[in-house]
Amino acid sequence: MYGLLDNLNDDLGLELDLPYQIFATSFNEPEVMEDEEETQEISPEGVTALLYTKEIECPVCRAKFNHTLVRESKLRLSHMEELRPVYKGFEPLCYDVTMCTTCGYATLKDRFDVVAERQRETLLTKLRFNYANFMPANFPVEMDIKMGVERYKYAMLTACMKKASLGEKAMILVKLSWLYKALGDMTNTQLFTRHANEVLTQAYQSERFPIFGMSESTVHFLLARFAVDLNDHPTALRFLSQIIVDKNVNSRLRDLARNMKEEINESK
Ligand SMILES: [Zn+2]
Repeated sequence: MYGLLDNLNDDLGLELDLPYQIFATSFNEPEVMEDEEETQEISPEGVTALLYTKEIECPVCRAKFNHTLVRESKLRLSHMEELRPVYKGFEPLCYDVTMCTTCGYATLKDRFDVVAERQRETLLTKLRFNYANFMPANFPVEMDIKMGVERYKYAMLTACMKKASLGEKAMILVKLSWLYKALGDMTNTQLFTRHANEVLTQAYQSERFPIFGMSESTVHFLLARFAVDLNDHPTALRFLSQIIVDKNVNSRLRDLARNMKEEINESK
C-alpha cells in the first residue's frame, strides 16, 4: 500500500509545482511520544461505531465506489491543540480525503465534486496516461494515520494536476504537517510546515478571503504558528499583533495569539 507515489519524475509531464519528495512515502521513527490521553485506545467496536460508508460517483471517471465517513457527532473531544481538535483515541483527519478507487482522483472530501469540465479532461488524460505510476490503492475501512498521510499525498497530486487554488493546496499541506506531528515524525513535520508556510503565504498575498474557508485572522494565526516553528519570531509577532488589535476576532483566537506572543517573549 505504501510507496505508490515514489516514482514521479519529469518524464511524466505532470507539471507539479512541488518537489517529488512531497509525494513519496516517507516516515521516520517518532521523536516525541504523544501524551497518554492522545494515544488512549478505543475498542475496535468503538471505532466501527464511528464510521459509516456511502456510495458516491467519481466526477472524473464516473465510477461508483464506497467512501468511509466519520460520524462527527459521536467523536469525543480530548482538547484543542491551538486550531486543531484532538479527539480521544481517534484521528478523524485520516478520513478527510475522498479518493476514487478506479482512477485515483482524490481531494479533501468537501471538494470532491468541485471539478470544472476543463479540469476533468486534464485529469482524465493525466490519470489514465499515468495509471501505472499512481495506481489507486484500496484502503481499508479503518485507517491509521500513515494511511491518512498517503491519501493526503494523492489529494496533493490531484490538486497540482487540476491547478487547484493555493488555498486548497495550503490546507492539504497544513493537514499533512499536523498528521506527521501526530506521528511524532519531526523531520517530516518540519518539511511540511515549511511547504505549508510557503504556499499559504502565496495564497495570502494573491487570493481573496475567505481563503479555502479560512478568515483573515485564522490565516494570520497559522502563519504566525509556522513562523514560530521555523524560528522566524519577527514575522510571527507581526501576524500576532494584527490578530490582537483586530476588533472582529473571536476571543478564543485572540487568547491563542496573546499566549503565543508571551511564549515568544519568554523564549527571548
Ligand atoms: Zn475516478
